[in-house]
Amino acid sequence: MSAQLIDGKQIAQSIKNNLKGRISALKEKGITPGLAAVLVGDNPASQTYVNSKVKACEKLGLFSKVIKRPANIDQYELIQIINELNNNDKIHGILVQSPLPSDIDELTITLNIKPEKDVDGFHPYNVGIMLLGRGGLLPCTPHGIMKLLEYSNIDPSGKEVVIVGRSNIVGKPIAAMLLQKAKNANATITVVHSRSQNIPEITKRADILIAAIGQPEFIKGGMVKDGVVIIDVGINRIEAPETNKGYRLVGDVEFDSCFEKASYITPVPGGVGPMTIAMLMENTVKAAELISSSL
Ligand code: NAP
Repeated sequence: MSAQLIDGKQIAQSIKNNLKGRISALKEKGITPGLAAVLVGDNPASQTYVNSKVKACEKLGLFSKVIKRPANIDQYELIQIINELNNNDKIHGILVQSPLPSDIDELTITLNIKPEKDVDGFHPYNVGIMLLGRGGLLPCTPHGIMKLLEYSNIDPSGKEVVIVGRSNIVGKPIAAMLLQKAKNANATITVVHSRSQNIPEITKRADILIAAIGQPEFIKGGMVKDGVVIIDVGINRIEAPETNKGYRLVGDVEFDSCFEKASYITPVPGGVGPMTIAMLMENTVKAAELISSSL
């Protein structure tokens, strides 16, 4: 068996195309959805992510603004910036690119973002609403995974889903979303992490496997069963002196050996990554709609 590729770029493009009507409707009311990205320090991967988000805004005709600050910014100053953005009528979505320097508490920063502008879906208010299955601003990467499954006609209902990784931004929220008593959810979930034992035995049970651990090519073909659907969230830079950049990107899944076993698989790059950006665009439009309807 060899797998069918799930084309995240194409699905992300459809989602962005579907936003165009909503954006025009807002513009007719004099509202241009606006996203502010706060970038602290000079982490090259963070800069790349923020650039991609700004480019996506430009292509869709959204307003965007990047606020760059050095790594030695103090927490109070960062909170002041967020307060200004909270009160800025042109801005409907605020994101603070992680990771932040170690002396800044990410939760404190998130708590200072108005929940209605929290387009990353990380504020505890939005996390709670998501857990209750009541919508709200959903976190972009797990929401993107849900859309990848939906657009590929893969129904998780009744399926055994194994999630590798329990981070607050991917593993835990995707577990909560797939567990909902709702269309395109209703899965049976197992989450494994660095303290789990016998991981290959557990991953072999998966009808759908979601890998989000940040360990290059951790999941090998021998760890999955025939016909599995594999969603690879990982983005890892590994040295590749033969390339211009000196590195290449690989996922948390060993692609070739898993491709032989899977029925569907996402590539890296071009799988989950573009979906994260598409869902961020959707959240920004949704935030603008909600904020403008409450005026
Ligand atoms: P994270 O916060 O570092 O969490 C990693 C999780 O994996 C933790 O729960 C950790 O367990 C677990 N883990 C690490 N090593 C393991 C091992 N050997 N066996 C089992 N579990 C292990 O990572 P994250 O933020 O979720 O990101 C994961 C990956 O996805 C990264 O490569 C990241 O770059 C990528 N990512 C991609 C997107 C995208 O848009 N495509 C978005 C977000 C993240 P413990 O909890 O026990 O430490």
